[in-house]
Amino acid sequence: MISADVIVVGSGAGGSVVSYNLVNQGFKVVLVDAGGDVGSERARESFHPALSSIEVLRCMCVGGTTLVSLGNMLITNAIIERIRALGIGLENEVDEVCKLMRVTKVPQDKLPPFAKRFIEVAKESSLRVEIMPKSIDFSQCIGCGKCAYGCPKNAKYTALNLIRMCLQRGLVLLSRFVVKRLHRQHDGVIIEGVMDGSKIRAKCKALVLAAGALETPKLLTQIHDDEKIGRNLFVDPFITLGGPYNGPSAAYGIQMAAYIDYDDFMLSPHYSGLLQFQLAAKGVDHKDRGIASIMIKVADEGKGIVWPNGIIETRMTKKDLKILENGIGEAKKLLLELGVKDEEIVATHVRGAHPGGTAAIGYVVSRDLTINGCDGVFVADASLIPPPLGKPPLLLIMSLAMKVAEKVREYLQKKDVEKLNDA
Ligand SMILES: Cc1cc2nc3c(=O)[nH]c(=O)nc-3n(C[C@H](O)[C@H](O)[C@H](O)COP(=O)(O)OP(=O)(O)OC[C@H]3O[C@@H](n4cnc5c(N)ncnc54)[C@H](O)[C@@H]3O)c2cc1C
Repeated sequence: MISADVIVVGSGAGGSVVSYNLVNQGFKVVLVDAGGDVGSERARESFHPALSSIEVLRCMCVGGTTLVSLGNMLITNAIIERIRALGIGLENEVDEVCKLMRVTKVPQDKLPPFAKRFIEVAKESSLRVEIMPKSIDFSQCIGCGKCAYGCPKNAKYTALNLIRMCLQRGLVLLSRFVVKRLHRQHDGVIIEGVMDGSKIRAKCKALVLAAGALETPKLLTQIHDDEKIGRNLFVDPFITLGGPYNGPSAAYGIQMAAYIDYDDFMLSPHYSGLLQFQLAAKGVDHKDRGIASIMIKVADEGKGIVWPNGIIETRMTKKDLKILENGIGEAKKLLLELGVKDEEIVATHVRGAHPGGTAAIGYVVSRDLTINGCDGVFVADASLIPPPLGKPPLLLIMSLAMKVAEKVREYLQKKDVEKLNDA
């Protein structure tokens, strides 16, 4: 049987940061992931959208969904204040993550031509438009706009960078290890899983669940009896709205290079190939014109559910739909300013790429980041985030994961002292 101080389930945004912290403090950490170690270049093959009324995008491989992220690393003061209201100050962790992930704003010379047009019209309309901070090595980035496929140049800093550093410092990484069952014992947790077709058992003093907001609740319900687990699922629903115009196409260059924050939704220059199908269906010929397109991302109320049997129910409430409608209205104004014809504007279907909230702080997980009545088990992924969010969550998840790692360290040290006292 494999044994460790800590087993971390899931190697994405949350799991990589917890592993990084604990390995650096000298703990024996085993990091398991259901997906393979495919690397950034082949990450697109590991897309594993969840089936529900809203298509929820995620990636299952070593490094998790960070490998297909656009590298946006954004946290607003409003979010920091909301987390502070739960008794959790995050400033130091945010700084630390930004250094670790080398976060910088998109440099002027890397701004794609369409993003520049978006910024111009937004400013002309007196809107406050910001340049997006990203965890991208811009000296390597070729601006192909294919971040969501992985990265052909490996120019994004992702969970994989942290994991590679940890491997040199003693981390044990088990890829293609699907965790199936969990059992709590008086002195730790037993994990049962399947790795390349073989059944494996592992034991740890502390367990960190970081399998993402759609999987963590399924695992947590096995060892913790709380009907609130899996509730509050939000996905930050988004659509991309656009049409042809006489200008540079949004398809080229770094995506989401700028944004406008409206609190309950955000707008950002973004292209989706799905627009082509909608244009064709509408009979719009755009051979000699570029496409202007804008993403509208909504901070939904979080009324979805991950049921214990794994069924994922996503919901857009009336309020969410109203916010989306407002967002469409604002995006449309900008598109019309850019010269897109009203009758040629099309939209993608609603998708979600930020599932979260299913073991939220102050709801399932206590404000001190422990789980009441479930000693030695911690959550460190997007499940922790209480809705609504409506912004790229990576920086928040990673900062919270830093805090969780600290709690795990305290827990293990307390256990060691208790053991010494007993002896
Ligand atoms: C296309 C796309 C672009 C995005 N761009 C951005 C962006 O620019 N900025 C931003 O902030 N956010 C972005 N996001 C969202 C962000 O990537 C996710 O919110 C974040 O990665 C979630 O982190 P996590 O730790 O909760 O889960 P993940 O990163 O999804 O990691 C979970 C891991 O757990 C593993 N796992 C699941 N179940 C099991 C099991 N039973 N046993 C073992 N392992 C398991 C999975 O294989 C996976 O690797 C994007 C998402 C998508 C889909």
